[in-house]
Amino acid sequence: MNKKWRLIHGILFSLLIFLAAVSGVKAEFFNRQNDLPEQDFVPGELLVKFKDMSLSPGPQILQGPEAEAVVAKLPAMNRFVLREIGGRTVRAFPQIGVIRVKIPAGGSVRRAARILAESGVVEYAEPNYLRYSQRFTAADIAVGPTEALAPGLFDIPTRVQPAPAQAPDQPVPATETPDDDDFPRQWALDNTGQEINGTSGAADADIDAPEAWAVRINGMNATGGAAAIAALIDSGVDYNHPDLKDNMWQDENGSHGFNALNDAADTRDPMDNEGHGTHLAGIIGAVGNNGLGVCGVNWQTRLMALKFMDVEGVGSDADAVECITYALQHKGDSRMVMNISWGGENFSRALHDAMAEARNAGVLFVAAAGNNSRNTDVARFYPAGYNLDNIIVVGASDQRDARAFFSNFGPRSVDLFAPGVNIWSTVIDGDYGFGTGTSMACPFVTGAAALIWSKDPSADYRTVKKFILRGVDKKPAFRNACVSRGRLNLYKAVSKLTGTVSQPKATPLSDPSIILRLLR
Ligand code: CA
Ligand code: CA
Repeated sequence: MNKKWRLIHGILFSLLIFLAAVSGVKAEFFNRQNDLPEQDFVPGELLVKFKDMSLSPGPQILQGPEAEAVVAKLPAMNRFVLREIGGRTVRAFPQIGVIRVKIPAGGSVRRAARILAESGVVEYAEPNYLRYSQRFTAADIAVGPTEALAPGLFDIPTRVQPAPAQAPDQPVPATETPDDDDFPRQWALDNTGQEINGTSGAADADIDAPEAWAVRINGMNATGGAAAIAALIDSGVDYNHPDLKDNMWQDENGSHGFNALNDAADTRDPMDNEGHGTHLAGIIGAVGNNGLGVCGVNWQTRLMALKFMDVEGVGSDADAVECITYALQHKGDSRMVMNISWGGENFSRALHDAMAEARNAGVLFVAAAGNNSRNTDVARFYPAGYNLDNIIVVGASDQRDARAFFSNFGPRSVDLFAPGVNIWSTVIDGDYGFGTGTSMACPFVTGAAALIWSKDPSADYRTVKKFILRGVDKKPAFRNACVSRGRLNLYKAVSKLTGTVSQPKATPLSDPSIILRLLR
């Protein structure tokens, strides 16, 4: 019945198109509708899912004639509608039934999407939306309501916070301090109140990394390992950086990842020419304790570079879907966490479906909450805002455990906070630099997930997420700002693997079990 209805609908629709074309009103009819602003999506491109497309069981990236062959197998009406918009298939992702379509230069994406939707043969047709890196720069505050904060941007008057109350009989956790030269600049890992980039911090407003690294699991310190892959969907990674190269993932041909911005198979080099991805890579996994530069959350790990962002820090949904697909193809039996330090306001079904597909493969995503200083429970930000349980959404905190003023928040839409101001890490050309933004907060959590997985590959993503969210330091600044009400604490999260988190001891006389033991 459905097919017959679709056929009738199709015939009527074709007739309408034909009549419109003959009478020469087609263009005018559609042009009356407003297009989206051009900067929101890639001009002349759509992501389309045809109802009749058969899905492949595994991840696939098809291009050129292979992609066209997928479309050639579709029923005639599907191909007719595609021809009607002048659509050319440039990619197919048959595991989620999505094709990437280019229309002729100057064509209206909105109009093409409507023709496809009205044809009744597509499940969805959407513009190829743009996503933006969430590094915060001085330029961002030149406009908008935060302008007044520009001078001495992060130099908020010091409110000295007392060290957290500890029960006097609680054992102080052991610490493991790496010998990397710049470790004292990494306040996020160990905050002694030191002045960083002109701003002084509060002692212990940090993720307790030295304590985490001293946690013993199976006779080894929890400093990282090779069991998990941390994939960065970003601007690429400077994989030759002396502080990163030993921790890069590589395939059998020596490639460190994938570049979705280039079409030819021999130009898939994921080298970073922007710096954003390299900065995040250092936060997750700069080689630790090598007497050089910075120390990652993981001293040893495997970083996969997936490039979809240009030098402006802008990427598209189609390229992100391609990166996710590549990562799934190369995941093997490893655990995988993907870092998403970018986003935008538009909802994309294709990107959602790719992330849901990765969920089926046990992949965890860690996404930046965004830098718009707003409540994302109300004004959504994607992909952080997708309703998928394999995403952890991270806002940015500062050196004094306050919410960074630029950070998005949301009692339901943001999961936790992590340090994202004045973060010192690796940059391109073998160098180091500061970065600020929810972009920088995100990889601390990605690093935490990789660290937990490196010590227990049998854990699933739900367990890893639970450990991270239950292991936060609860602070007033985050109480109404996120689900967990706290900021990442690596030590507490990792300790959940062993049950070694020290609990304050009960006073002897109030604990009957102790009296019983004394009596024995
Ligand atoms: Ca600490
Ligand atoms: Ca180092």
